[in-house]
Amino acid sequence: MQARDPLSRVLYIDLTTKRYWVEDRRDLFEEYIGGAGVAINLLREELPRNADPLGPENVIVFAVGPFNGLYPMASKTVSMFKSPLTGNLGESHAGGRSAIAIRLAGYGAIVIKGASEIPVYLAVHEDKVYFRDARGLWGLRSTHTVGRVLREREPGHGFRTVMRIGRAGEKLVRYACVVVDTYRHFGRLGLGAVFGSKRLKAIVISGRHSIPVEDKAAYRKAYDEILRSIMESGATRKYYELGTSENVLPLNELGALPTRNLKESRFEHAKMISGENLAEKYLGRRVSCAHCPVACIHLAALREPYVQAPYFYKTVFVSYDYEPIYSLGSMLGVGNPEGLLKLLDAVEVFGLDAMSAGVALAWMTEAFERGLITERDTAGVKPSWGDYESYLKALELLVEQPTEFYSALARGTEYAAKIYGGEDFALTYGGNEMPGYHTGPAAHIGYATGARHSHLDSAGYSFDQKMVGKRVTVEEIVDYLIREERWRQVLTSLVICLFARGVYTPQVVINAFKPLGIEYTEDDLMSIGRKIHLLKLGFKLNEGFDLSRLRFPKRIFETPTPHGMLDPSFMDEALKAYRSRIEQELKELAKAS
Ligand code: SF4
Repeated sequence: MQARDPLSRVLYIDLTTKRYWVEDRRDLFEEYIGGAGVAINLLREELPRNADPLGPENVIVFAVGPFNGLYPMASKTVSMFKSPLTGNLGESHAGGRSAIAIRLAGYGAIVIKGASEIPVYLAVHEDKVYFRDARGLWGLRSTHTVGRVLREREPGHGFRTVMRIGRAGEKLVRYACVVVDTYRHFGRLGLGAVFGSKRLKAIVISGRHSIPVEDKAAYRKAYDEILRSIMESGATRKYYELGTSENVLPLNELGALPTRNLKESRFEHAKMISGENLAEKYLGRRVSCAHCPVACIHLAALREPYVQAPYFYKTVFVSYDYEPIYSLGSMLGVGNPEGLLKLLDAVEVFGLDAMSAGVALAWMTEAFERGLITERDTAGVKPSWGDYESYLKALELLVEQPTEFYSALARGTEYAAKIYGGEDFALTYGGNEMPGYHTGPAAHIGYATGARHSHLDSAGYSFDQKMVGKRVTVEEIVDYLIREERWRQVLTSLVICLFARGVYTPQVVINAFKPLGIEYTEDDLMSIGRKIHLLKLGFKLNEGFDLSRLRFPKRIFETPTPHGMLDPSFMDEALKAYRSRIEQELKELAKAS
């Protein structure tokens, strides 16, 4: 890596002792690129085995990579921690200004350890770290308000990132998120609860370092080529125009849109919650992460009348994407766009992961229908498909947890189903609530085996869609998922927004490294991706994850996919094939090291 690049500096912060220090970890960045590759290594170094995810021994790692701040759409930060939802690897990615702020503050990674006695927030302004009293912010109802206060209090306007949790994180809801710069999130696997357990309300990071490049002319050329490709290739057009909400109608048409807790795979009101309808009737503006020309973040302007003042309205901007539309829309049978936008705003206000929250409410609705839970459990709420008012109330109660039922649901759908029954229709994978693609076998095998049980691990949904109407074998699926997940380890180590994966091909990545004085071959990159993937899986296995005990929710076999009904024996065979391949490779890796 370049001699003057501050990327190799890792900032360690101990919330217990209120100390901080910097270490040079050139070794890690040279071997593992940055981002996901460096984060998994720092997590393995710092986290004691079998640590309580909500205890002070858990560790939060943020990491960026060599392309952040240098190339377009390298706009993401990776966070790793032990997940309080699954009990093993927690990994989440966010954009906004987070990556550029960390990089320009002069760091490649930040490691946060310990726990504070009183609520604090961290202000990292280049070489200085301040531990600020956050007792006045703790308990505020809305993450919007917390953001506003921090923006007024802290310097660095235009350069900083502001990450904060809401009530859900404070109340340790296991799928609480961290809201980043308004409209972006470390959404999945409960980073918000880890913040809450450390009494860490927020982090503000700013800096104005610059990043050196070895060969300026070559850098300029590589930059222009990438930018041109983003703007002209069409690979990112979908994100630019309607955003990810463009997926609603095609998936519905295909019969792959999970509806009413996946009792169905088509939603009769799909048009109402489609990207097209939201854009025509509600789109207020679009915003972008720092250093991204795409601006996929679509914000709906939701006008709400004041109750007692005619012709007075409050306008809130609500960001919408495909995944939250699926989980809080079709999955709950909510076809009223304003109702959906109110639900999206509520999860933002409380700081909840929209996907997990929606799947939890969908399970709750079916459990209520079947009499597994009653109004006594739900504190009077009668959840029913499409009734967004009941879901708004349920979200509030889920955060405050006034009954044992809500406390259980706050620990995740899988946990609640173990206590109240209904595991067959609890749509979780390894403890994580499922993403919005019921496209066929590869999607579900990918959720089961992916390191973070996300559609973003290995994109099985994409493979399914390409293979509709064709026969696929277990080997083809397993090969595809492993190859794809490994290449994604490289992209998330750089750290590229995965919406740019069509632009950052192996050759483009190799060319973009050259002006930085770094030479890689495609084989080098693939072998780093493989190593990171195996390290992540090894971490999971060490923390108790067991591929042989993984279950597929029975519901997925009861609802047709575009590939017809899924065959349980085919799916089990795929799991076995995946497991034996990974176990073999882990053995080889252990032998080699
Ligand atoms: S495409 Fe969207 S999510 Fe990705 S970096 Fe750009 S604005 Fe952010």
